Amino acid sequence: MDTGVKGESGTATTNWGGTIPYIDPHVHMADLGWDALESMGIGGMAAAVNPMARPDVVIKKRSGAFDADDILRCWDHMLWLAERFEKTFFYKVYVALSWGSNSRVHDVDRLHRALADYLKHGRVVAVGELGLDPYQWSTTVSQEDSEAIIAEQLSVAKDLNVPVVLHSPMLKSSAHYIEGPKLPDGAPAWPFKVSTAKRTFAIAERVGLDHTQVVIDHSDNDLIQWALENTNAYVAISGACVWRGIAPWQAAQWVQKYGPERIMVNSDAHQHLSMDALWLPRTIREMRRVGLEEPIIRRVVYENPKKFYRLSI
Ligand SMILES: [Zn+2]
Repeated sequence: MDTGVKGESGTATTNWGGTIPYIDPHVHMADLGWDALESMGIGGMAAAVNPMARPDVVIKKRSGAFDADDILRCWDHMLWLAERFEKTFFYKVYVALSWGSNSRVHDVDRLHRALADYLKHGRVVAVGELGLDPYQWSTTVSQEDSEAIIAEQLSVAKDLNVPVVLHSPMLKSSAHYIEGPKLPDGAPAWPFKVSTAKRTFAIAERVGLDHTQVVIDHSDNDLIQWALENTNAYVAISGACVWRGIAPWQAAQWVQKYGPERIMVNSDAHQHLSMDALWLPRTIREMRRVGLEEPIIRRVVYENPKKFYRLSI
C-alpha cells in the first residue's frame, strides 16, 4: 500500500509522519505521578534514563552523613521502579547511579565495590548525575568537599569505562519551587552556570575521563557554545522545569544553530516544582517548525542518547 502523501501532480510531497519516538536521557522518574509518566509515553517516549542526583532529598535526610545502606536502598528502589514502570507504561527504563555531589558517607568503600557490581546490571548505564552547584552546598559540605566527593565517583566511572552525567546549576525561581532557592553565604552572584560547569568538567579531566564519556547537562546557549568549542563532550539541553525558562522553541533553535552532532535534549523533569511532562515532544514539534529534517531530529532525540549511554534498545 502506498502511504505517501500525494500532491495534485501525484508525486509525494510531504511525509506527515506522526509522533517521532524519543529517548529522554535525563528524567527523575521516582517522584513523578501517574499522569506525567503516562503523558511521556503518549508523547512518544521509547526509553528513559533516570539518574540519582540527591539522596538527601529522596530519603529526607537533611544533615549528617549517610550509611552505605541508605544509598543502596535508593539504588535498589530505582531499579525496582524501573521494572514496574516498563510493565505499566511501555517504555524502557535505565538508571544512572551516584551517591550525590554533597553526600558524606560513613563506609564509602562499600559503595565503590557496590557501584562496580551495579554497573554490570543491564539497566545501570552511567554514573551520575554529579556536579558542583552553589544552590546545593549544605551547611556540612563545602565546595572543596563536594569536589572531592564528585572526583571519587568519577574515578570509579573512569576505572569501569562508563559514561558520566555532569550536572550544571541553574537560576532557581522561588515562584515555582516548593522550598524556594537557598544560596549559602559566600556563594557567587548569578550567573555562575558556565564557570561552575567548567570547574566540574575540570574534575572529570583530572581523573582522566575521555571527553566522549561525558555529557555536560542542563546547558544554556553560553554553555553549549563553550562545550562545543572547548571539549569533545556531549552537551544536553534540559527544559521541562518551568523555572529554567527554556521554551521548546528555544531548544529547537539551539539545535538548529549548533547542529545535531553532540547535542541531546532532555526533560530533567521532577515533581517538586512546576514542570511540563510533554516538554520534550513539544520540542520535537518545534524542531520540525524550524525546518529540521526528520533524520536530524531523530539523531538528537534518539540516536545520540542511544550511542552515548550504549543502550541496548
Ligand atoms: Zn537532574
